[in-house]
Amino acid sequence: MLIVTGTIGIDTIHGPTGSADAVMGGSAAYFAAAASHLAPVRLVGLVGEDWPADHRTMLESFPGIDLSGLEVRAGGETFRWGGRYEENMNNRETLFTHLGVVEDTPPAVPEAFADSRFVFLANSHPAVQAGMLEALPNREIAVCDTMDLWINIAHDDLVSLLTKVDGVVLNDSEAELLTGTRNVITAGRKILEMGPTFAVVKKGEHGAILVHRDGVAAIPAFPAEDAAVIDPTGAGDSFAGGMMAHLARLGRTDFEAIQESLAWGTVMASFTIAAFGLDGVRAADEASIAERMSQFKAIGRIG
Ligand code: AMP
Repeated sequence: MLIVTGTIGIDTIHGPTGSADAVMGGSAAYFAAAASHLAPVRLVGLVGEDWPADHRTMLESFPGIDLSGLEVRAGGETFRWGGRYEENMNNRETLFTHLGVVEDTPPAVPEAFADSRFVFLANSHPAVQAGMLEALPNREIAVCDTMDLWINIAHDDLVSLLTKVDGVVLNDSEAELLTGTRNVITAGRKILEMGPTFAVVKKGEHGAILVHRDGVAAIPAFPAEDAAVIDPTGAGDSFAGGMMAHLARLGRTDFEAIQESLAWGTVMASFTIAAFGLDGVRAADEASIAERMSQFKAIGRIG
């Protein structure tokens, strides 16, 4: 069974295609939404009393998400994040991050979740991510995400977390910030020296590279026209959701399985970016996912 913890946020987004105010977001929300199309997923998260009712309705509309680990903290404020995309939507500036309950005591992992085997630690404070691992002794694989904020303000906690996980998913600029190396393969290798068995370095619209102790693999992004890219927020989390959910349904964690799972992550991310908030990934269904996967396979044929 797959489990995720991370942020559940209220996002404000500005970009070349328009703006959206106070939409449902957060790393764990995007992950769970994308993953739930492929496999059931357990969510452990924390919001404040200000969490909008329609955000709960949105999360509940994904049938595969078990929300019994979602806590509303009395007196707490929900995580809020604002971002602005440049004309080139690979570039994003964070306008504000209000951590709110993310700085509080983390939510408890329900006892019924303790048998989870596939664990994803979506973006959050690395000490919170590490704490979650202690509650999941039956894990077969633990993968974490991280981002610039945590590399900058919680570097030592992050380095310690990396000694405890099997894999890490991060984007190219974050890999460079963490390792001081621009080349993604070399940066990936440096990350493996810090502990994990594999690193997936994402390169926005240019796809992703898997650097694993057993080999290296590359995957293109799903080629999207302008009209299909409204808001890239959550693309990384949705990628991770598709990837981990595919591993969970395969029941495997070897190099070939991880390589195969990259395609499912790519396809799920391509739904997320088509609208603000969770609307894009909400619109996906079994038929549209299968259709996009077959288009993607055809695009990547080699030999
Ligand atoms: P992505 O576009 O995949 O990097 O994910 C963006 C999502 O992550 C947004 O919905 C934000 O609410 C959330 N987010 C932004 N900054 C952070 C952070 N420092 N820690 C955890 N989640 C974050």
